[in-house]
Amino acid sequence: MKLYPLFADLSRRAVLVVGGGPVAERKIAALLGAQAQVTVNAPTLTPQLQRWVTAGRIAHRRDAFQESWLDRVWLVVAATSDVELNRLVATFAGLRRIFVNVVDDAALSSFHVPAVVDRAPLTIAISSGGEAPMLARLLRERLETLLDHSLGALATLAARLRKRIRVRHPDMAARRRFYESLFAGPVAALLRQGRPEAARQAAEQALASSSVASAGSVVLVGAGPGDPGLLTLRALRALNEADVILHDRLVSAEVLDLARRDAERIEVGKQAGNHHTTQDGIHALLLEHARAGRRVVRLKGGDPFVFGRGGEELEFLRDHGIPYEVVPGITAAVACAAHAGVPLTHRDHAQSVRFVTAHCQSSRDTLDWTALAQERQTLAVYMGVAELGGLQARLVEHGRAPSTPFALIENGSRPEQRVITGTLSNLAERAAFHAVRSPALLILGEVAALATSLAWFGQPLGATVHELPVPNVVRPVRADVLAAVHRA
Ligand code: SAH
Repeated sequence: MKLYPLFADLSRRAVLVVGGGPVAERKIAALLGAQAQVTVNAPTLTPQLQRWVTAGRIAHRRDAFQESWLDRVWLVVAATSDVELNRLVATFAGLRRIFVNVVDDAALSSFHVPAVVDRAPLTIAISSGGEAPMLARLLRERLETLLDHSLGALATLAARLRKRIRVRHPDMAARRRFYESLFAGPVAALLRQGRPEAARQAAEQALASSSVASAGSVVLVGAGPGDPGLLTLRALRALNEADVILHDRLVSAEVLDLARRDAERIEVGKQAGNHHTTQDGIHALLLEHARAGRRVVRLKGGDPFVFGRGGEELEFLRDHGIPYEVVPGITAAVACAAHAGVPLTHRDHAQSVRFVTAHCQSSRDTLDWTALAQERQTLAVYMGVAELGGLQARLVEHGRAPSTPFALIENGSRPEQRVITGTLSNLAERAAFHAVRSPALLILGEVAALATSLAWFGQPLGATVHELPVPNVVRPVRADVLAAVHRA
């Protein structure tokens, strides 16, 4: 079926909805959004519909459907579970040339309700002509993730300037170029940043100077711990719009795969003891690409402001007048805790959590070890594995009980995640025994004991008892394996 798409103005126009269940409720919610005057016809209503009736937002007819009600309506929706009634409503509506939608019945419907992405005043409607509603819904979800919510404000701003833009750029091609730069450039960025007034001023300026400044910009983006599912929607959008991506080595290939295909990818990774690119080198690259007018994404593992030197990069950009945005990411401590089943705080075990990075041997050790060694708090330690011995010694020396539990999470949240548990007294020993490698995060504190009982993520065990994990490597145990252990 090939449909003709149209957007209907229903404000203050009468619409009849036959049916009072959850489906009718959803349709009515959308109709109210379009300011239609809705009458619902059903013997009983959902609680929400009832509230709308009580509040006077919709009218209610309890008695059986009557053809004469169609006299004054513009549109009808039949949303009952009674097929015969739906058919009757559709037939009478058809006779009067009133558009009717019968829920889940494309053949009886003379109009379809599309899947909608709402960025008012911008509306994107998707229809599969009733053939593949699931596909339409899926597409809607994709578009939802791709389109920032500030798009509505952008459309409103463009509408306010429309006449003047037309006068300023009578030539169609020039006008189009102007709009393109308005929608992709700093004006859109300012709206994303929640600064509508600054956006309006930038747009006014652009209109006065007849072009939108094409200065490049930098978005500092947290890529999270590796699993692309843990990216924010904003991070995804920034990756979609990037011309250049400067990324750390820690950023996973799966995350990079989501970026715009044409975006240039440059690894500026730093690794303990192996500095590919110096911080100054990274600054120089940021400047070079932004000054060339590119949209630069500076992509960092986890969160850019947690042991990520994001602050230094912003200071540099500010000093050089390059516009920037920051998109937070899920930091390793938060991701590792979640994926190891270790709550960072717990009413019974820890009232505070500290994110620390330890450099035990170096002169940069300025940590307050007495404070770090206190009980009933959680330490989330970002560090090279080589530091574990020093850390263990310092904490015990400053009074942390050697029996304090730890969970050491290697490749947290990634398919190859391993969780090693033990107590402070055997921390370095266990890490060495299991040959733990970077990236690994240490969670130390009373809460770490829960890693054993709350584990849910990671490789399930093989089916045989012989493949039980080496002691203190926590992996979720499947019920069938447990049963096998009990039988053995
Ligand atoms: N900005 C990052 C941290 C960078 S410092 C963030 O917010 O997560 C690098 C350290 O983070 C690593 O040495 C390791 O301790 C930790 N780390 C990062 N990703 C990790 C992961 N997937 N699993 C365990 N630790 C991780």
